[in-house]
Amino acid sequence: MRAPIVVAVLAGLIVADDESGLKALTARPEIVAATEWGSKPQPIPDSRKQTPKFVTIHHAGVVWTAKVAPEVFVRNMQSWGQRDKGWPDLPYHFLIAPDGRIFEGRPLEYEPESNTKYPLAGNVGVEMMGSFETQRPDPRQIASCVKLTAWLCDRFAIDPATVRGHKDAASGQTTCPGKDFDRYLKDGQFVRWVRETLAGEAPAIDPGPPLPGGPTETIPSTSPAS
Ligand SMILES: [Zn+2]
Repeated sequence: MRAPIVVAVLAGLIVADDESGLKALTARPEIVAATEWGSKPQPIPDSRKQTPKFVTIHHAGVVWTAKVAPEVFVRNMQSWGQRDKGWPDLPYHFLIAPDGRIFEGRPLEYEPESNTKYPLAGNVGVEMMGSFETQRPDPRQIASCVKLTAWLCDRFAIDPATVRGHKDAASGQTTCPGKDFDRYLKDGQFVRWVRETLAGEAPAIDPGPPLPGGPTETIPSTSPAS
């Protein structure tokens, strides 16, 4: 006879005792804090507070040439948004470098910004540096996106099946997150990687062969020091 599933809340950890054994909450991946990369955020009004309900995935849409370090790219995006767009902080909550490092952006309790029109409240914006219309993501970048998304799904009780690309949220307005990442959202591979991570596995990230007519070159990984 199958043992009943016992769920206990112990010191902030949810522990489920079932046939697969003990399972703790998905670990928070290592994240470069905003204070570490030199963030200079401006205050965001309370009217823009949100409760995270969706994970929306982006690419930068700018070809990554590794001419600047990722932390410089993040600082430049923040100051550009403040100067040219009137955005008090980065438009995204997390930004992932080609080497897999995750940078903290806007605080999660505030809705993101966008150049497109869709309901922003409840979205967690996860951006990967590069343009996946013309370059392929680095497997370490995909792996960090999977780990981060799994942690967000666990922490905010988000169904992995609802994770989407920007183009799915803002239909007809953008190709973001680019065809060579969108493929993993459309064929279900990204959700499988996330579910495996949530199950305590460490899925091997195999980007697979290039898409017919798609990009063939992987994004350059290492950036020079600033
Ligand atoms: Zn986008």
